Amino acid sequence: MTTTALDPAAPLVFDTAELRGAGTTMHVAREIPAPEAYGLEAVYAVPQGAVLDLDVHLTGVSEGVLATGQVEAVAEGECARCLAPVQDALSVQVQELYAYEGSVTEATTEADEILRLEGDLLDLEPAVRDALVLAMPVTPLCRPDCPGLCAECGVPWDELPDDHVHETVDPRWAGLEKLRLADNDGESK
Ligand SMILES: [Zn+2]
Ligand SMILES: [Zn+2]
Repeated sequence: MTTTALDPAAPLVFDTAELRGAGTTMHVAREIPAPEAYGLEAVYAVPQGAVLDLDVHLTGVSEGVLATGQVEAVAEGECARCLAPVQDALSVQVQELYAYEGSVTEATTEADEILRLEGDLLDLEPAVRDALVLAMPVTPLCRPDCPGLCAECGVPWDELPDDHVHETVDPRWAGLEKLRLADNDGESK
């Protein structure tokens, strides 16, 4: 497995050297800008640069470092039914073990099951990203009972009167309808 070297200065990368020798905890309570968009941009996402409010504990355990805590962020997108702008405050729990290089855990698991430390550097970003993306709704809605748009004219039902209807003629009868109208015209002359 090849990994790109972590940047120790990146806002979500933490030096956990002081946590070696199990039992020590580091508290990360800070707001940082999202390094990239999480989710589907323009549809529903925590935009790049949006505030990630972290309240996470990093605890040294024998096999690595356990990251547990909470992340809050605001997701933006559009309602899947009426296309109105949607904003949701997401609050998610993070709980991930980062295995030490050379640990039994590292040797017996795949990198996509258990995250890894790089030396003493811990990249919290994958844990934060996964927790946020998992909390996103499959169908973002402006409100649970959004009635959507009229299929005929595309106007939101919220802006239409209750008795809004379109005269629809079955295409099989459209020809007859024309004849009938032409006939009526003839009679009126
Ligand atoms: Zn809506
Ligand atoms: Zn309509």
